[in-house]
Order: sequence, then C-alpha cells, then structure tokens
Amino acid sequence: MNKHEKLIEQSKQHLWLPFTQMKDYDKDPLIIESGSGVKVKDTEGNEYYDGFSSVWLNVHGHRKEELNDAIHEQLEKIAHSTLLGMSNVPATELAAKLVEISPAGLDRVFYSDSGATAVEIALKMAFQYWKNIDEPQKKRFITMKNGYHGDTVGAISVGAVELFHRIYEPLMFESIKVPYPYVYRHESRDAEACKQDCLAVLERTLEMHHHEVAALIVEPLVQGASGMITMPEGFLREARELCRKYNVLTIFDEVATGFGKTGKLFAMEHENTVPDIMTSGKGLTGGYLPIAITMTSEKIYQAFYDDYASMKTFFHGHSYTGNQLGCAVALANLKLFELDDIVEKVAQKSAYIAKEMKIIEDMDIVGEVRQRGFMIGMEIVEDKETREPFPAQDRIGYEITLEMRKRGMLSRPMGDVLVFMPPLCATNKELKAMIRIMQDSIAEVAKRKQKVQR
Ligand SMILES: *Cc1c(COP(=O)(O)O)cnc(C)c1O
Repeated sequence: MNKHEKLIEQSKQHLWLPFTQMKDYDKDPLIIESGSGVKVKDTEGNEYYDGFSSVWLNVHGHRKEELNDAIHEQLEKIAHSTLLGMSNVPATELAAKLVEISPAGLDRVFYSDSGATAVEIALKMAFQYWKNIDEPQKKRFITMKNGYHGDTVGAISVGAVELFHRIYEPLMFESIKVPYPYVYRHESRDAEACKQDCLAVLERTLEMHHHEVAALIVEPLVQGASGMITMPEGFLREARELCRKYNVLTIFDEVATGFGKTGKLFAMEHENTVPDIMTSGKGLTGGYLPIAITMTSEKIYQAFYDDYASMKTFFHGHSYTGNQLGCAVALANLKLFELDDIVEKVAQKSAYIAKEMKIIEDMDIVGEVRQRGFMIGMEIVEDKETREPFPAQDRIGYEITLEMRKRGMLSRPMGDVLVFMPPLCATNKELKAMIRIMQDSIAEVAKRKQKVQR
C-alpha cells in the first residue's frame, strides 16, 4: 500500500465528514494534500480548480505569501490567549479595522469561530437586548423560508431549508417563517410582483407579531445554501424599513456574502442599508482560519453596559474567541483587499463571468443562472419550459459535480443548484477554464439522461 492508498483507507476507517453520506464518500473518496493559487492538489497528485473556494472561503488563493507570513510573525509572539476579561493585540486592531471599513452604524465587534456561532451570538444578543431594556416579551424571531444560518441548534431554529432542518425540528425553538422572494419559483416569474408579495406578507406578519418579536434574520441579497437565490432590488432595504417601523431588530447574516463576494465589501452596501446586528465569517481570514464576527450598533451595546449587579452582562464566549493567529491573518487579508483592489476587481470580473455564463444559461437542462458578483448558482431542471426538476433520486447536481471533478474542478451542489464561487483572485483566464469545465460536465450528464429516456 502506498501513502495515498493508506490515507484513503484510514479516512474510510476513521473519519466522519460534515454534510456527507459516508457511503457516497466511500465510493468517491478524495484527500487534498496541498494548494496553490486557485488550485488544490490531492494525494495522488491530481490538480483541481477550487471552483467553490473550499466552500465559500478562499479569497487570495491558497498559500498566499502575505497571509502565510502574517501567521508566522504572530506565532513568534503568541498563538493564543483568552479574550475573557482581557484583550489581545490583533483582536483589538482587527476590531478597529472592521468598524472602520463596515457601513456606518456597526460599531462593536464580538468574535467567535464560525458562522453558526456568530448567528447564535446575534440571536442571544437580540433576545437579551429586549430583556435588558425591560421588554422581555419580545423574544421570537422571524426568518425567511429557505434561509440558512448554520448548523447549531439555535442557528437551525432560524433556518428553513427543508432538507437540512426537518429532522431536528423537535430540538428547535419555533421561529416565524415568511416567504423569500424566489423569483424563478414565483408563479409570476416577475421580480417586482414577487417582491411586493413577499413584502406584503412580511408586513402582515410584523403587524400581527411585532409585540413578541425580537428580530428578523435575513441573508442579504443572496440566499446561499438554499441555492444562490438572488433578491430583487429594493427588497432588503424595504424589509429593513418595515422592521424599523414595527420596532423589530434586524440581523443581516453576511457570513457568505461578506468580504467582497457580491462586488461590494458587504452585500448590504448595494442597498444602502444597515442592520442592528450583522454576522460575518467565511472570507474574513481569506479562507485561512476560523474567525467569525457579530457586529452591532452602539445602541445594542449600550443596553448591556451597566454595573455588574444589574445582570446585563452578555454571558457568552468560546475558548478560542479572538484567537491571535486568526485575527492576525484577518488583518493581513483586509490589507490585501485594499492593496489588490479586490472588491473593485470582483465587480469588473463579474461582468466577464456573466458574459461567459451565457452558453451555460442556454443549455437545455439549465433553468436559470443566478449571479451576484462571484456568487453563482445554476438551477438544473428536466424541463426548461415548465421548470420541472429532475426526480430527486437522480441527484442531478451531485452527478454533474462528480463529472466536474473528473475534469479537474471541485464544487458542491445545493440540491439541483450547481454552485460556482471561485476565489476572488481568479483571473479571467482561470474563470474561463472553470466555466468550460462546468459546461462540458453539464453537457455530458444531459447526454446520459437523454440516452436513458430513449
Ligand atoms: C455558511 C453560512 C453560515 C454558517 O457558517 P459556518 O462557519 O459554516 O458555521 C451561516 N450563515 C450563512 C449565510 C452561511 O452561508
């Protein structure tokens, strides 16, 4: 047995992978050993484009010198000390930087180590905010259908992706679900009509429940995990205004959309609107280390600021909150954002992607291509006319993604929606090569399906 075979064997024997039916893994195992730029390499030496940024994280490519250096330098000082009751240097500097670059009104930074924990923190802060200002009856949450906010029990309680969440329902607290403007699946297929419908339901819901609602949580501009579903223009801003009108806090979950992916640093900037609480993570460290943030307005913060005996303290924290290595690499990442003009370039390259994706959009089994910057979803359907999906047991998205892997590109579908979310540093040439692989893979699987039908 060579080293590769031994690793594969060990992974099958001992590992349990997230969001993975291990029976699938056993059939098509893969172990990544190294990476460089927009490519990763497996233990057999095969190279793949990282077409989904290692699940939506990577920004400047793998093994980026400046980021590696930042970690090395920090290691020479200290790897970790606690943030409970004291601070550290990079966590302090990063907080100041984040407040500087995020939209006005987000004044405080609370650290954690994943998107899900950032969401837990947002929910507990919103809940306790109302308690601290003597409105304890405001303790429920409104969320959007198909929303995804992470996998801890609190985060799934405001999640609404049927496939991931139904199983755990008995464990969850109940949230109020309102429709998300999913234009492609709206009867009208018209963005404006769909938006108005959804806003009307939101307003009715707020009218009915505002007295008991702490906050609305929403993924700004793109619902990621439910299939890269883009919002009609104006929806986010108007939803935020409705919440203000009914005295309900808003939480924007920018875990996926934050840090440049939509062509602005934060997706909310497209809509010129700011929430009371924002969560972000994924791209914050350039895809290097697990740091996430929950940012709030000064108003929220002040509701917790008092003498200890008032019991208004936010009783929440994690062992690795504010980890120095993570904060140091996040600072280096943000510096590169500025030096390399990442956000501006994403905006430019997005137009190139849109042009190149036209070929895919015209394919018979592609119902719709949705794009917001570098967040792209391709909804695969059996019938383009009626929008009829393939039977679920066909696992069409999974099949196409395996085909992409054979051709040297990695991604992960969300059900029948293929995901294309390349590292933000990808050049037009690299983008084109990836789009070509997706096109060929879709064509190959479509051909297979036709054969079966005959
Ligand atoms: C990925 C994601 C999360 C969860 O983040 P983790 O770091 O995986 O816990 C939360 N919200 C949104 C919108 C996400 O896309």
